[in-house]
Amino acid sequence: MSTRERAMICEVGPRDGLQIAKTRMSTPDKLAWIEAIAAAGVGEIEIGSFVPPRVIPQMADTGEILAGSLRLLDRYPDLVVQTLIPNLRGAQAAYEGGAHRVSIPVSVSEGHSRSNLNRSVDEQIAEVERIIAWVRAQPRAMPVLAACSTAFGCSIDGVVRTEQVVRVAAGLAEAGADQVMLADTVGYAHPAQIKEVVRAVRAEIGDRLGGIHLHDTCGLGIANALAALEEGVRQFDSCIAGLGGCPYAPGASGNIVTEDLVFMLESMGFATGIDLAKLLEARAVLHAGLPAEPMHGQLPKAGIPRTFKAAA
Ligand code: MG
Repeated sequence: MSTRERAMICEVGPRDGLQIAKTRMSTPDKLAWIEAIAAAGVGEIEIGSFVPPRVIPQMADTGEILAGSLRLLDRYPDLVVQTLIPNLRGAQAAYEGGAHRVSIPVSVSEGHSRSNLNRSVDEQIAEVERIIAWVRAQPRAMPVLAACSTAFGCSIDGVVRTEQVVRVAAGLAEAGADQVMLADTVGYAHPAQIKEVVRAVRAEIGDRLGGIHLHDTCGLGIANALAALEEGVRQFDSCIAGLGGCPYAPGASGNIVTEDLVFMLESMGFATGIDLAKLLEARAVLHAGLPAEPMHGQLPKAGIPRTFKAAA
C-alpha cells in the first residue's frame, strides 16, 4: 500500500451513536461535542437524522443541531455537515435546513426494511428515486448517499446473500445516488465477506461505490475496516467511543471506534486530517455530556503509544 494516501472518516456519533443511548444528550452538549469533533480535524460529521421524534426521541433537536453545526463553518470552512433521512419529507427538512449532504438507509433484507422503515426493499428504492428527483430540481446541490443497510447479515432475516446486495446497490446507482455505501448494520460481517461483497458491488457499479459503515458487535469491526481498506475503500463511518446501534435491528451494538480507526489508518500512512490527541479531547466532551453511557475503544484506554507517528 502506498503511504500518505487520503482516507476519509465520517463521524456518525451524533446520529448513530446517540439514537439508542439510554440517556438524552442535551442540545448544547451535542453542539459542544460536534464542535470538538470539528476541532479535531474530522472533515465529515453526520449530525443527526430527520425522523419523527416519536420514533427516535434523541433526534428531536436535529433542526437546531443542523443550524448550530453550520455555524461552525466560520471556523471550519471545509466541514461537511450530513444528516440521515428516511424519506422525502426528511430530505426536504435537510435541504431547507442547509445540510450539505444526506444519507438514506435502504435495507437489503426485507425483515429489516419492514421493521426499520415499514416499507419493502423495492418501495424504499423507489423512495430514493423520488428523493433524488426532488433534490435535483432544487437550486442548490445536495449530494445523496444511499446506504445498503444489513448488507452483511440481518438479525431478523439471518443470511443476506451477496447477490441481494448487488441488486440493491445497482438499483440505488440507477436511481441516481451519488454514492452507494455498504453498511454492516448489525455487525455480523467478517473480513473475507467484506472483500467478497466490496468486489461484487464494485464490479456492478464501479466507483459509485462509496464508503463502508461498520459495527463491532462480534469484535471484528477493525479487522473488517482493514479488509475494506485492502479492497480500496477509502471512506469509513465510525463513532467516537464506539457508541451506536440500530433501534430496529435487535442485537446490534456499537459502531467501530473512531479513535482506534484513526490510529490504524494514520499508523499505516493514510492521512485522515484528524489529530488523535484532539480526538481524545472530543471523547472527553462526549463523556461530559453523556456520563452514563459506556465508552469503548482500545487506543483511548492505552493512551497514544510513544511510537505513534501521524501520516502527514
Ligand atoms: Mg449503524
